Amino acid sequence: MKKHNFSAGPCILPQEVLEKSAQAVLSFDDGLSLIEISHRSKAFIDVMENASALALELLGLEGKGYKALFLQGGASTQFLAVALNLLEKRAAYLNTGTWSDKAIKEAKLYGDILEVGSSKEANFNYIPKGYKIPTDADYFHCTSNNTIFGTQMKSFPKLDIPLVCDMSSDIFSRTLDFSKFDLIYAGAQKNMGPAGTTLVVVKEEILGKVTRKIPSMMDYKVHADKESMFNTPPVFAVYTSMLTLEWLKSLGGIEAIEKENFKKARLMYSEIDLNPLFKGFAATADRSTMNATFSLTDDKLKVSFDAMWKEAGINGLNGHRSVGGYRASMYNALPLESVATLVDVMSELERKA
Ligand SMILES: *Cc1c(COP(=O)(O)O)cnc(C)c1O
Repeated sequence: MKKHNFSAGPCILPQEVLEKSAQAVLSFDDGLSLIEISHRSKAFIDVMENASALALELLGLEGKGYKALFLQGGASTQFLAVALNLLEKRAAYLNTGTWSDKAIKEAKLYGDILEVGSSKEANFNYIPKGYKIPTDADYFHCTSNNTIFGTQMKSFPKLDIPLVCDMSSDIFSRTLDFSKFDLIYAGAQKNMGPAGTTLVVVKEEILGKVTRKIPSMMDYKVHADKESMFNTPPVFAVYTSMLTLEWLKSLGGIEAIEKENFKKARLMYSEIDLNPLFKGFAATADRSTMNATFSLTDDKLKVSFDAMWKEAGINGLNGHRSVGGYRASMYNALPLESVATLVDVMSELERKA
């Protein structure tokens, strides 16, 4: 039986993507494996070009002065790359969870960081509102979806300074006006591909403005000028991400997947709200469509609930240690049927209790 994979990351990928990428490892270009040919071969350059073009096309950013780069070092490396490339004096950050917190910590190595809002005092169970961003900050940084706490920003400020966003766990999941953002980054392994590459979408005009010397591997301009081929790119991760983006396009793009994601989230949260044995963690207005965090109202039911969902073929449901309880991650490739299976188990627990 195929598992219902609710893993928070690395996460579920479409079955056809797994099959095609496995095939490419065996035979890709003229009988050679994808992972044993030169990254400068025509076959791989086509992959990189296609992956970048698809990313921009799906985000509606083609021909708008953006570059899509496939880099390494995870989203965690972007925490410092953002500061190295954009921070001259002072930047504004919104602190909505562990990942924002880490981004702030790294950026502080390179300048003054103003935390314009934080929900730390409430263990990040909501998104701060009404915060003020100084107009003289070098940029504003936020995290669109808080993977661990299950909150998601539903709106973004309109600014005259660059808007930078960590979209690791909800990129390509919902329609947004992506042209409001000047720099978006996302580790592939949450909603796009395997671990090993990080997508950076950057508006070229914001680069080259800081006075510091930037090490080449950290310099977005170097990577942009070299079409993500300054050094050997993570060929397997880029190829698999390209396949996922092709899959998404064939389904009808972000608009189509957003409808499915809303259906899954509605089903999940209505069970959490209606079933008296469960309670949600995140503030209702800020709930994530990607990661639903919840717990049992009575811990004595844990043993039976855990046995029941495992029996139903569900995997990856345990919450992050900083929140506890459960977390159902419902990324693009998770079918509605998997959420329906989980909801059935939750209602079965209520009938039996
Ligand atoms: C997982 C995650 C990260 C860290 O990504 P790495 O690729 O492991 O460095 C950063 N931000 C968010 C929102 C995440 O979900």
